Amino acid sequence: MGIDNLILWALVIAAHGVFFYRLYVIYNLVNLGQGTLGLDRIPGRIADLLIKGFGQKLVIRERSGWGHFFIFWGFWVITFGTLEGLIRGLFPGHFTFAFLGPIYPFMNTMADFFGTIVMVAIALALYRRFVIKPKRLEGPLSHQIDAVVILGLIVGLICAFFGMSVLVDRPGLMPMTSLLRSVFHGGTAAETIEEAGAAFYGIEWFHNLIVLSFLVYIPYSKHVHVVTALPNLFFRDERIKGRIEKLDLEDESAESFGVVTLKDYSAKELLDVMACTECGRCQESCPAYNTGKPLSPKKVVLDIKEHLLRDGPALLKDPEAEPAHALYGDVIEGDVLWACTSCGACEEVCPVEIQPMTKLLKIRQARVLMEGDFPKEAQNALRNIETQSNPWNIAQDTRGDWCKDLGVTTMADNKDVEYLYFVGCAGSYDHRYIDVSTALVKILQQAGVTFSILGSEEMCTGDSAKRIGNELLAQTMAQSNVETFDSYGVKKIITSCPHCFNTIKNEFPEYGGDYEVIHHADLIEQLVRDGKIKPNPSKTDSHDKVTYHDSCYLGRYNDIIESPRAVIAMAAGAGNYVEMERSGMNSFCCGAGGGRMWMEETIGTSVAGDRAKEAIDTGAKTLATACPFCMTMLTDGVKGLGKGDEVQVRDIAEIVADSLDG
Ligand code: SF4
Ligand code: SF4
Ligand code: SF4
Repeated sequence: MGIDNLILWALVIAAHGVFFYRLYVIYNLVNLGQGTLGLDRIPGRIADLLIKGFGQKLVIRERSGWGHFFIFWGFWVITFGTLEGLIRGLFPGHFTFAFLGPIYPFMNTMADFFGTIVMVAIALALYRRFVIKPKRLEGPLSHQIDAVVILGLIVGLICAFFGMSVLVDRPGLMPMTSLLRSVFHGGTAAETIEEAGAAFYGIEWFHNLIVLSFLVYIPYSKHVHVVTALPNLFFRDERIKGRIEKLDLEDESAESFGVVTLKDYSAKELLDVMACTECGRCQESCPAYNTGKPLSPKKVVLDIKEHLLRDGPALLKDPEAEPAHALYGDVIEGDVLWACTSCGACEEVCPVEIQPMTKLLKIRQARVLMEGDFPKEAQNALRNIETQSNPWNIAQDTRGDWCKDLGVTTMADNKDVEYLYFVGCAGSYDHRYIDVSTALVKILQQAGVTFSILGSEEMCTGDSAKRIGNELLAQTMAQSNVETFDSYGVKKIITSCPHCFNTIKNEFPEYGGDYEVIHHADLIEQLVRDGKIKPNPSKTDSHDKVTYHDSCYLGRYNDIIESPRAVIAMAAGAGNYVEMERSGMNSFCCGAGGGRMWMEETIGTSVAGDRAKEAIDTGAKTLATACPFCMTMLTDGVKGLGKGDEVQVRDIAEIVADSLDG
């Protein structure tokens, strides 16, 4: 073995030592969190890893993700050549993978192809980052340097691969190598490595040094996600979309509830922050960020990551110690915490399934449950829900008054019905939304659907309380409702409010309440398809263009996207429908979720105004919704833009009721 082999051995061992030591530290930091990384349902985890990780399914949901796809796969393919170069450098002789037979030319062909593609993808990535400069890729200088270093190392690796290929002939179809050879090497190549001599030897050393630099640099850089993203997808916790897990408030051993310090997050939640690719997709889709609030979900994740890397090592030495910085206050400030609308967009778009929103809501739980600290206006709404079971503090015993003259029965009078119609607070008390409840009653009665309401026995579902962080109140509401439902043997429930829908469908099962829940969008569509009602578009008020705003809790959380559009088409005519750019899963929040409905919007511009403008820009004269919160916010948004007389905000149930005879 020559001295050059021995030097490379020393460097390889040192680089691997640095690499694995850093991984060991990261592993321990992650394990500062609660519990362990899940190892149940292995086949599902492997499927996630293959489809979302290696298949890059979530990355390529947007066009710019294809660049990452090719860099990712190019990297794996080129690893073949990387290994060959490293092994050759470690041992005497001129090692190649030629002994693999037909696989060798195939791999050379792939390396030539992907090497070319990766160079193009990197050029485009650099152009995008430094010339187009999308806001979502902005970050501190150190992060920009990181990106250039990593991309530079990959470029160096590929150049070295092509350099060696140009000098020595390899089997395989290698058009890029041939082109470079004819430009830089007179179209000739050596038959063997010995023949290529010192030039080949120099490039090989350059190549091996780059590989080892990569190994050392990666786990210390922002690109640590190269190592952590795939495990993050593998260890993904399976959870029900739309559900905020119930806290065990009866756990007498618990010293706190919610997340007070970073040690209160689960190990998986800490792995999450280490896996952030800094792609900024979450930030780009965040309604709070887009309207000038200090909240950026990307920054939330990166700030928690920095907190973990900065304060975590001391906690590893003394597990009883508290972090040097406070999670709330030092790391996540109040204006950031309370700006979240719980729209879920950040979690939906993240290519590595990180959950910024859930991290914020857990801090809210701690603020409310441990400190009683939350925005003043929200305090009023929660107090009202506590005393009168609705956020407006209107007498509970008047909850059923809205339908006194509509011939609607209560469960107490008549429980021999197919459905419970859970009206919700807005549908019961809000004057504008009572029109929607009334329209729905007309539809149900005309279709011959049997239903009753609970009237004064109905209570708020606790959605807002839950998302503000008042778990105790949310649990009380949920428990009471489930007991009432069960006392009447309820099996099927209609809701108009997507927040009620989401809570009853996705969260009440945690209280033993399993029901078939249907939102009026789905139900109306079904009734029309079954011929139970016959909308007549010529009768509706909505003759002009209609657009539809997807409520986050209906669309993104519960995949109810097609039925509201189908209903509008049936009632207002398909030709009258016009879509907004941000729609369906990519819809833009109205700004009311997460308890924001009850808080003042004092920073930045209006979220509802932003959304209303998008709707108005389509030229629609009717902005349709299927949610009471959205209706309130968008009505304000439209009025705020001075278009209150030109554009009406209507629920799909109203549009359908208008189109019916009688
Ligand atoms: S849930 Fe919505 S508002 Fe909250 S951080 Fe995510 S994108 Fe922003
Ligand atoms: S949290 Fe996800 S979407 Fe946001 S920057 Fe990180 S990887 Fe991208
Ligand atoms: S979740 Fe919202 S709309 Fe539904 S009942 Fe509670 S406050 Fe009313």
